[in-house]
Amino acid sequence: MTLTIPFDNSYARLPDGFFARQAPVPVRAPRLVAFNEGLAQILRISPGDVQEMAETFAGNTLPEGAEPIAQLYSGHQFGTYNPQLGDGRAVLLGETVGTDGVRRDIQLKGSGQTPFSRRGDGRAWLGPVLREYVVSEAMHSLGIPTTRALAAVETGEVVLREGPMPGAVLTRIAKSHLRVGTFQVFAGRRQVANLKRLTDYAIDRHYPQADGPMGLLREVRDAQARLIAQWMSVGFIHGVMNTDNSSIAGETIDYGPCAFMDRYHPNTVYSSIDRMGRYAYSNQPDIAVWNLAQLATALIQQLDDPESAVQEATEIVHAMPGLIQQEWLKHFRAKIGLITEEKGDEALITDLLTRMAHNSADFTNTFRALGGDNARDQFLDPEAYDEWAKGWRARQEREQDPQAVMKAVNPAFIPRNHRIEQMIQAAVQGDYAPFHRLNAVLAHPYEDQPEASDLTHPPTEKEVVHATFCGT
Ligand code: AMP
Ligand code: MG
Repeated sequence: MTLTIPFDNSYARLPDGFFARQAPVPVRAPRLVAFNEGLAQILRISPGDVQEMAETFAGNTLPEGAEPIAQLYSGHQFGTYNPQLGDGRAVLLGETVGTDGVRRDIQLKGSGQTPFSRRGDGRAWLGPVLREYVVSEAMHSLGIPTTRALAAVETGEVVLREGPMPGAVLTRIAKSHLRVGTFQVFAGRRQVANLKRLTDYAIDRHYPQADGPMGLLREVRDAQARLIAQWMSVGFIHGVMNTDNSSIAGETIDYGPCAFMDRYHPNTVYSSIDRMGRYAYSNQPDIAVWNLAQLATALIQQLDDPESAVQEATEIVHAMPGLIQQEWLKHFRAKIGLITEEKGDEALITDLLTRMAHNSADFTNTFRALGGDNARDQFLDPEAYDEWAKGWRARQEREQDPQAVMKAVNPAFIPRNHRIEQMIQAAVQGDYAPFHRLNAVLAHPYEDQPEASDLTHPPTEKEVVHATFCGT
C-alpha cells in the first residue's frame, strides 16, 4: 500500500508575500501513534503502510504533490497588536478537495523552525498534540465547526518544556488557516494589493455568495456568531481568542489552553497566561465582537470611500452581539427542552444558570440530567433546583417532546480536563489505551454509554485541573 494524497493546492499559487517556502525539518525516529481513517476517507487520502505514514506525517518524506509553506500572519495577542507572527512551528503541505466537495488544508504542526519562528524551537511535545487530537475530534462529534486531526506521530526526539518531553507532530486539517490576523498583516503594512488578493481568495474559497469586502465581513460575523454560541452551549472555553486564532471559515482553531468547564461559573478561566480573565467563559461573545472589529478595520483599508465603508462596517459589527444572543437563546432553549419561543424563556434559562453557579452544579451533567429525577442532585442545595423546576415544568407543558429535544443537544460526554491530563500522563509512559478509549467514547457524545460512565464523572478534589498551558 502506498500513501497517496490527491493534492490540489491553491494557497501556494498566491504571490510570494503570502508565505515562505519551507520544508518540514526531519525528525530522528518517527512512530505513528494515531491515524484517523474516517477523516482520511473524506479527504480522499488512501493510507499507506504504518512506517510510510509515520515518515510522511512527521515530515521526513514529502508526499507527491506537496508544496510545503509557512503562512504569514499577524494578530492581536491579549489585545496588543503583534505585527509579525506567522506559522512558527507549522507547515502547510497543501490542500485536497474532499468527497464532500470541500477544500481543506493539510498542515503539520510541530514540524520544525520556519522564518516565522522568532525564538521558538518549532516543535511541539506529545501532550498538546494528543490534547488537540482528542478535543478537536470531540468538538467535531459534538457538531461544532472545528479543525480536525488526521494523524499524530511521536518524533523520537526530546523537546524541552517544563522538563524534557517527548516530541510529536500533529497533522491538522482545516477548511483553511485564514485568520483575522492574515488580513491584519497586509492592512498593517499598507499592502493593499495583497489585501485585495486575500479578500478575493477568501470569498472564492469560503463565501462565494459574498459581495466584496463588506459581504465577506458579514459572512465571517455570522459564522463566528454561530460558533461562539455553540461553544457557550457546551461549556467550552477556548482560552486564547487572539485574532490570529480567529478563523475566517468560522472553525474552532488552536486548542492550546482550552478547557470544558466542570462546575458552572461564568467567570471561569483555565489558561495560566490569562491573568486578567480576558478570555473567560462569559467574555467569549464580547471578544468575538472585538475580533470582528479588527477584521473590519483591516478590510476597510482596501476601499475607496473610507467614510461610507466605516459606516457600513460599524453597522455590521454592531449587529453581532444581537446575533450571538439569538443563537445562544436557540441553543439554550433546546437545552431545557424548548422548541417554541416564548417571551419568558430567556429569564428561565438565566435563572437556571444563576442557580447552577451558586450551587457548584456540573455544567454538562446538570443539563444531561434535566428531565430525569436526579438533576436536583447536581445542586449543593437541591431545593434551589426544585424551585426553578416548578416554573420550568409548567412551561414544558406547551412543548411536544422535550425529552428527545434535550437528549439530542445535551451531551453525556465531553473531554474533561482531568481525563485529558490522565490520558497524556499515560501516553508519556507509552500507554495509549486511555487515548484510544477517549476517542472512541467521545465519537458518540449524545449516546448513553453505560460502560463508560466513569468518563461522565467530574474530577475529585485531587483530580481537578486548575490551570492549562499553551504547552507549545
Ligand atoms: P499560539 O499561541 O499557539 O496561537 O501561537 C502564537 C504564535 O507563536 C504562532 O505564530 C506560533 O506559530 C508561534 N509559536 C508557538 N509555539 C512555537 C514554537 N514552539 N516554536 C516556534 N513558534 C511557535
Ligand atoms: Mg495560533
